[in-house]
Amino acid sequence: MVKETDILIIGAGPCGLFAVFEAGLLGLKCHLVDSLPNAGGQLTEIYPKKPIYDVPGLPDIIAGDLVQNLLKQIQPFKPEFTLGETAVSISKDNEDYFILTTSLGTKIKSKVIAIAAGLGCFEPRKPQLSNLAQFENHGVDYIVKDPEKYAGKNLVIAGGGDSALDWVIYLSDIAHSILMVHRRTEFRGAPESVNKLLELVHQNKIQLVTNAEVKELLGNEKLEAVKLFIENKDDLEIKTDYFLPLFGLTPKLGPIAEWGLGLDKNAIVVNTFDYSTNVPGIYAIGDINTYPGKLKLILCGFHEATLMVQSAYKLINNGKNPSFKYTTVTGIKPLN
Ligand code: FAD
Repeated sequence: MVKETDILIIGAGPCGLFAVFEAGLLGLKCHLVDSLPNAGGQLTEIYPKKPIYDVPGLPDIIAGDLVQNLLKQIQPFKPEFTLGETAVSISKDNEDYFILTTSLGTKIKSKVIAIAAGLGCFEPRKPQLSNLAQFENHGVDYIVKDPEKYAGKNLVIAGGGDSALDWVIYLSDIAHSILMVHRRTEFRGAPESVNKLLELVHQNKIQLVTNAEVKELLGNEKLEAVKLFIENKDDLEIKTDYFLPLFGLTPKLGPIAEWGLGLDKNAIVVNTFDYSTNVPGIYAIGDINTYPGKLKLILCGFHEATLMVQSAYKLINNGKNPSFKYTTVTGIKPLN
């Protein structure tokens, strides 16, 4: 059975979610598709417990709470979700509707597609270790989803960027012990995070080994220890419950790259008038798009979503312009 909607949104990150709200104000229904099992994109997947300070009107908000707020805000507009399925291919039917097919064969029909696919499909950068796959989810994690999982545990964390620094600092209050391993002596992360890290080392709250890397994983059913290579020193075996290689995510556009859209370095080129792409009826908002002056910020994606739905409305309603009204005047009119 083919499901039908007004705007099909690929990606249930913050920008995809907010697009549902703006579309709902214009009476348009949305259906969101996301490869991940939960909504929220990077906020849910990479930094659910971190505070965000630059969402207008919210001096600080935990990323996971922002996602919950967005979900609450769009409730009246009853969006449909297809989660845990990747948008794989698009075609057109004989009435000029797009038909999207997901990795599990779900088909969704719409006049408009809004791509809000962020970094694309998440693929963590993995270290080159022979038996890595054996320990994935058995002691090796690439993303911290639930910090409480590491309460009272011994951790080895590798990396030198913001993600590794932020999590070492955050988990230093939760874990029993943390050994941070970094290939170099300089860090790529924010200077204030590096200072905080060095302070924690000074207080003996964490251990830091530089010019070093994990070269072997040891254990049977689950990870028990790692072997460290340290420049100009003997290898060291460290007992640990978890090894977290936090080397960041490789942006992979995934199947969307094959859809004939104008691309520039893994991002979709858009017209800033309405965030339309070179394919009529397909828009791109949030981190996935690019244009002169683009900033990958949530608030920029919210703006893009707002302008995008105005244009989508016109396309869906045969050229008719939406009438612009303040929410203070209209309130929220739920959709059926
Ligand atoms: P995303 O949040 O990336 O969501 C995209 C979704 O699309 C994902 O869920 C993905 O699974 C899905 N997807 C991709 N391809 C497909 C496909 N083919 N089929 C189905 N689903 C697909 N921004 C700020 O404004 N302030 C901050 O303080 C801030 N801090 C940050 C801290 C960190 C550590 C990181 C990593 C980012 C931070 N950002 C911050 C950036 C912010 O998270 C992004 O700008 C925002 O998440 C972009 O939202 P989005 O909806 O465009 O995409």
